[in-house]
Amino acid sequence: MEEVYKNLNIFLVEVIGFPNHCSLDCSYCDWEKQSFSPLTELELVRVRRHLQAALIFIRRHYPNTQVIEYSGGEPYVHPKVVELVLEIFKDYWVRVNTNGLHIDETALEALKAHGRVYLALSLDGHTLEANSYRVRSQKQLDRIIEGLKNALEAKIPVALLCTIHDRNIDGFVYFVDWLEQNWLSEIKQGRLMMAAHRMSSYGRPHPFPSPAQKQRMGEAMAGSSSPVILPIREHYEAMWDDDSPCTIYRWAASMHFLGNSLATAGRFTSFRCGMRGVAPIGEFALDQEMEWDSFSRAASLSVQMDFSFYRCRCFVDWRAFDLIFSGVIPMERAKKWFLPLQDQRVQQWVRDYQKSDS
Ligand code: SF4
Repeated sequence: MEEVYKNLNIFLVEVIGFPNHCSLDCSYCDWEKQSFSPLTELELVRVRRHLQAALIFIRRHYPNTQVIEYSGGEPYVHPKVVELVLEIFKDYWVRVNTNGLHIDETALEALKAHGRVYLALSLDGHTLEANSYRVRSQKQLDRIIEGLKNALEAKIPVALLCTIHDRNIDGFVYFVDWLEQNWLSEIKQGRLMMAAHRMSSYGRPHPFPSPAQKQRMGEAMAGSSSPVILPIREHYEAMWDDDSPCTIYRWAASMHFLGNSLATAGRFTSFRCGMRGVAPIGEFALDQEMEWDSFSRAASLSVQMDFSFYRCRCFVDWRAFDLIFSGVIPMERAKKWFLPLQDQRVQQWVRDYQKSDS
């Protein structure tokens, strides 16, 4: 057997792309979605087998991983798969990306039972206008906000995913005020946080904010003393700066399951940066251990390559973590900002990463 490649610096492994169906149809979403089909018992058995293989794979190649991010499509169109992810990745922080429409009692019970889980819940503002690229009615928006409220009441940490576009940028400061008015205590405990992100495009036209709007938001953020903004003010300073360096590709790994692959062949594609699918490493099958060796080789070669070649310019919410890991945002401040960063194991990882990087 080939020597196993281990990347000790990996903090996050994204397990994404399943299901490829979503209960919303955001007009700025570039993901190729499929129509819904329920999973058969046999497919669920395969999902379990592939997730267990993914766990072994991650332990072998990325032994220091702290967070498993699970996203689709919308994970909760197959709640049983979310339950399996929570069961199998019980020793990690699990982040479940969701549109917030399905946070019911059963979902909350499973999240609470895990104990080291947080929701990354998409919300572009508190008004229908701000969410008009995502939701179809006030009723739908109310349901998402109810899901947020219920998650916080159940003491489940929530990271709000706010995509900044032309219809919500001018109201962003009012959104921040609204969060403070409703959940100041949760914000101060690090149970509710938000690192807003820029809209990205895979080449399709998108409703980008105008330069004047970006300038106004930049000025508003620079003058903000909100506990939502202040702990990560450097994140907002970097938001419209195209030259601000991003090093997420050094500490994140990706397993993108395309189509129904998690429930069928268990094949995944890995990218040096899975956030935007940049720098493909190759496609591998979890069922074929011999392919794990070729993954090892490809992955170790990929860390040696010059990433500047890709000239990527996106700005995702994880940039706030990038700024924390690189020491731009001090850990003492970051700990108060988001509860998982108070975990001793996570703090040790950050110390080790900073030592390896110095
Ligand atoms: S800029 Fe975007 S694509 Fe490039 S490394 Fe950062 S997150 Fe990945």
